[in-house]
Amino acid sequence: MTPPLRVYPVRALVLRRHNLGETDRIVRLFTREHGKVDAIAKGARGPRSRLSGATEPFVRLRAQLSKGQNLEVLTQAVVEDSYPELRKELMRVGYASYFLEVVDVGLEDRQEAPGLWDLLSEVLRLLERATAPELLARAFEWRALVEFGYEPRLDECVVDGAPVQGAGIVFHPQRGGMLCPRCAASQRGGIRLLPDSVQALQELPGLPLAAAARASLPPAVARQVTACLVGSVRQHLGADLRTLRFLDEVQPK
Ligand SMILES: [Zn+2]
Repeated sequence: MTPPLRVYPVRALVLRRHNLGETDRIVRLFTREHGKVDAIAKGARGPRSRLSGATEPFVRLRAQLSKGQNLEVLTQAVVEDSYPELRKELMRVGYASYFLEVVDVGLEDRQEAPGLWDLLSEVLRLLERATAPELLARAFEWRALVEFGYEPRLDECVVDGAPVQGAGIVFHPQRGGMLCPRCAASQRGGIRLLPDSVQALQELPGLPLAAAARASLPPAVARQVTACLVGSVRQHLGADLRTLRFLDEVQPK
């Protein structure tokens, strides 16, 4: 891999930011070209700074970074999309923040993941319009798990490879997927699935994101599918995702 030039262009999504000193900000960028990069935005908190709007979470940028001593420096940024509809409703802010945290926690610094970048920018755009984003969130989690290399097994039992359909199937986040009734009998834990939940999970990989943003599952099935996907995210990325607690609070019950 060739080292980046001293000044280089990126497309970036702002994952998070914090203040530094009187007027500066440090932004964590997810760039399409170089993965996750922390950069200093000098003077970004000044009232007339051109960088202030460009250093808010879930803004998509075309930016220029320059190599610094410790951190990169954000020298130029043009906002491509600020996803304004996301900011009007706490529930959408909650989902968007969760998507950003999944990406932030799941990626190493500088790990290139253009597929995940495309996924995140697409899912934020769809989230602006989605009336009930729950299934969109599940479709995002599925694709993110695949990008991270943690694809749960849905087509056959993780222990003996038996086909899984109908009644008695268990999804086990710690075991990485479905268990057939025979293997489930000797395992503790897991989520005992309704046949409709087995089917909904098996359809998730083939479900286009745009369709997921418009559809919803019956409540009992949705609860189980959520438990399976969120359980898998927690299993691989850590149990204590800050945004999941927030999302839980702002979600309509
Ligand atoms: Zn089995």
